[in-house]
Amino acid sequence: MNESIRQVGYIGLGIMGAAMASNLAKAGFALTVWNRTRSKCKPFAKQGATVADSPADLAAKGPDVICLNVTDTADVEQVLFGDDGVVAGAKPGLIVVDHSTISPMATREFACKLAGHDITLVDAPVSGGDVGAREGTLSIMVGGPDDAVQRLQPMFEAVGKTISHLGESGTGQACKACNQIAVVCNLMGVCEAMAMAKKTGLDVSKMLEAIAGGAAGSWQLANLGPRIAKGDFDPGFMIDLVLKDLGIVDDTARQQRLPLAGTSTAEGYFRAVAAAGGGKLGTQAMAKALENLGAVDLK
Ligand code: NAP
Repeated sequence: MNESIRQVGYIGLGIMGAAMASNLAKAGFALTVWNRTRSKCKPFAKQGATVADSPADLAAKGPDVICLNVTDTADVEQVLFGDDGVVAGAKPGLIVVDHSTISPMATREFACKLAGHDITLVDAPVSGGDVGAREGTLSIMVGGPDDAVQRLQPMFEAVGKTISHLGESGTGQACKACNQIAVVCNLMGVCEAMAMAKKTGLDVSKMLEAIAGGAAGSWQLANLGPRIAKGDFDPGFMIDLVLKDLGIVDDTARQQRLPLAGTSTAEGYFRAVAAAGGGKLGTQAMAKALENLGAVDLK
């Protein structure tokens, strides 16, 4: 179980997957890629990667590891267990690393099903956005067996900076759900502080500078506060995607009978912005909901 990993398959070359696969290639891993929209494989083929015809074909080529980076739980299920899915071509001993953000409960079920085929599933959702993916500085939240996670360490180091092994399969996704709760509640606090600043006649940008170095300081405040103040709602991380993640948080909280009042309020604000056509805006556009409710312009 300790031989080093050389051959890596990559499924899902979207914003995150393309950047992370590219960093793996730079670190010397030999790549075979597959993407539903085949044209996204072209840049990788030019750099010497093999292009597979399907997830099953990719698995049949016998990589040590296959990374997944697709959208949601149903998409992971399809690429793993669908007619032409990974399981249909996989050889025993394969490790599947799922970098998508999906349900922790479904992840545990997928891990059990894959174990029946002698395939190990390691969930490894990430935080740090498109910039972190390009720069190889992602935070990676890992769930899975110790020996597989140890073996994957050089791959994780090629795409991320903070690598945390939380426990067995599903714990990486559970940690990502915690991450999203903290992120959206934090952003809501930033928007509310900006609304109060505006209503009390403060210069919003000066208020942000004044509180950034104290106990209120945070990534959301430092990075998204100034963008809200400029009316810049271009996406780093889209509202449609955070709503997908909050659906996962809701399902998990419901199962655990855990009230998450702050997260539910934040989700309501995101829904309001999405309902008005803003689903493709960045998460900082939550400010628009606060602007409407409070009759205040945060710029
Ligand atoms: P994206 O750019 O929309 O890429 C999604 C990828 O998944 C594409 O390659 C897409 O293929 C593929 N895909 C989706 N459904 C599929 C299916 N049923 N079968 C096969 N392929 C499928 O999304 P992204 O931003 O890279 O996000 C990927 C994952 O990372 C998501 O779970 C997201 O929540 C998570 N994440 C994103 C960020 C971020 O800042 N963007 C940050 C942290 C985590 P096509 O090219 O054919 O559409």
